[in-house]
Amino acid sequence: MKFSQLLIPTLKEAPNEATLPSHIYLLRGGFIQSVGSGLYNFLPLGKRSLDRVQKVIKEELDKAGAQEVSLSFVTPASFWIESGRFEKYGKELLRFKDRKDSDFVLGPTHEEMMVNLVKQTVKSYKQLPLNLYQINLKFRDEIRPRFGLMRGREFLMKDGYSFHANEADMKREFDLMEATYKKIFTRLGLDFRVVEADSGAIGGSGSKEFMVLADSGEDTIVVCENCQYGANIEAAIRQPKEFAYDTNSEFKKVHTPNTTTIEEVSKFLDISADYIMKTVAKKALYDGGRSEIVLFVIRGSDTLEETKACNAVCANEIVDISDKELFDAGLVAGYMGPLNTPKNIRIVVDDSLKDASGMVSGANEADCHLVGASSDQIENPLYKDIVAVQENDRCSCCGGRLYYTKGIEVGHIFQLGTRYSEPLKAEFLNEQGKTQPFVMGTYGIGVSRLLAAIIEQHHDERGCMWTKESSPFDLVIIVSNIKDELQSKVGQELYSKLSEMGVAVLLDDRKERFGFKMKDFELIGIPCTVVVGQKLHEGKVEIVMRQNLQPQEIATKDVVTRLKEEFKW
Ligand code: ATP
Ligand code: MG
Repeated sequence: MKFSQLLIPTLKEAPNEATLPSHIYLLRGGFIQSVGSGLYNFLPLGKRSLDRVQKVIKEELDKAGAQEVSLSFVTPASFWIESGRFEKYGKELLRFKDRKDSDFVLGPTHEEMMVNLVKQTVKSYKQLPLNLYQINLKFRDEIRPRFGLMRGREFLMKDGYSFHANEADMKREFDLMEATYKKIFTRLGLDFRVVEADSGAIGGSGSKEFMVLADSGEDTIVVCENCQYGANIEAAIRQPKEFAYDTNSEFKKVHTPNTTTIEEVSKFLDISADYIMKTVAKKALYDGGRSEIVLFVIRGSDTLEETKACNAVCANEIVDISDKELFDAGLVAGYMGPLNTPKNIRIVVDDSLKDASGMVSGANEADCHLVGASSDQIENPLYKDIVAVQENDRCSCCGGRLYYTKGIEVGHIFQLGTRYSEPLKAEFLNEQGKTQPFVMGTYGIGVSRLLAAIIEQHHDERGCMWTKESSPFDLVIIVSNIKDELQSKVGQELYSKLSEMGVAVLLDDRKERFGFKMKDFELIGIPCTVVVGQKLHEGKVEIVMRQNLQPQEIATKDVVTRLKEEFKW
């Protein structure tokens, strides 16, 4: 294709709201155009990169035996009501009515739709297993759309769903998808890590995320210095720590004025934060608008992990609570504790506090704390892991040091079991002739987010540096001075020859200065350019790799062979 004919509206400056390199360069390089909050048009270059990324995904999935389908984006709300998610999904789910007043949603994910598809077409174990996927639009009315393609409202996702006769077969497919995803992200040239992920209230290790390592990532991941362990902080676990408790300390109430923080209590009573029971009050929100106050009790030296806390009480969400709400419930801000708590308030205690004694806790009375308290005095505690792993904690697999790093979630695979097939009554006849719900897995990739993730990892101060299989073109030929007949002719010939070989070539034939074209090459970030310029009279052209921008002279007659070697075309 010829640059002079393509719509590539490069910009000198990015709009102010763009702060991440990927957002800035995708806008400036003329890949995408903003339409509204979290909404983008893909321009020719952006569409080409998107297509190439999709091609890699499709090739690897097809090789693994998955079949591509395309589901209706507009989904009848009845599917979502049946699965129980119509309410649960909250405001991210865009709901609307048609002219007949029927309810619909724009699919933010397609479990319901896919289960219905299979329910109607698969009746026997003989038709299993089955792995169906699509690469299609999703809409989520995200509360904070930002960072360009990273967190859009309308975005492109690959979503796959597998159906099995039993758990063991679903696990086999889960492992196959993990291996397939690794191939995909490796081909795309990404430095990524597979980590344990939050599996919601179901728990367990049935969910993994694929994280592209980048400082700008929105997710904190916990990794081990020593072994392969890695987990999203929402799911990370650590080796239990040992504590020496003072079992002889007398249980009593003490006057502790102006000590509303752990630090102040620790100082006032001269006790390490490890031996203080910190009580965090939250409001848990459930289906049907029901809510309740929950007290989460953790060690003073720990912090509450909100996803874990939410899962512990099987809530849809947990939110902060105002001082007035606390007061109305009979609680005293700054002096809360799990003992002598007003009746009927649910108490969740962190696992690490089991058997803790000689502890300090708020007395549920202003300016007072209890000392010599033990966790077995707590009435009806629910013990759960609700704390965030901290840096320098020890790995539960090998004892190695754990540390934090940042990641961009580009994929998520999940062992679903019968979570959807049961409520949606999607059943088949098993080998014994009995009806049984399908055992399912689900597998997602953020396709449009991948473009942003690739650029976050591959850019410099001049612009994008696309990886081989994600670049909109394989190569650019820059004709330095288009008015020079020889340069123009050689550029054209090279362009035709490479195009015939199936190489995706962009010919920069614009009537612009060489420096201007070079700047666009650097901004757009195609991996390589051949510059046809002055040196042509000596029978030479230049090859410049975007990686290092070092020109290498080469005899014009050898350039094709050299490129073939370099790129293995
Ligand atoms: P996140 O925690 O980032 O919101 P999620 O857990 O909601 O992601 P899934 O429901 O597992 O994501 O969706 C599958 C994939 O779709 C994610 O791994 C991510 O790459 C991508 N994705 C999710 N939300 C968005 C979004 N708003 N914009 C772009 N891509 C997204
Ligand atoms: Mg999300």
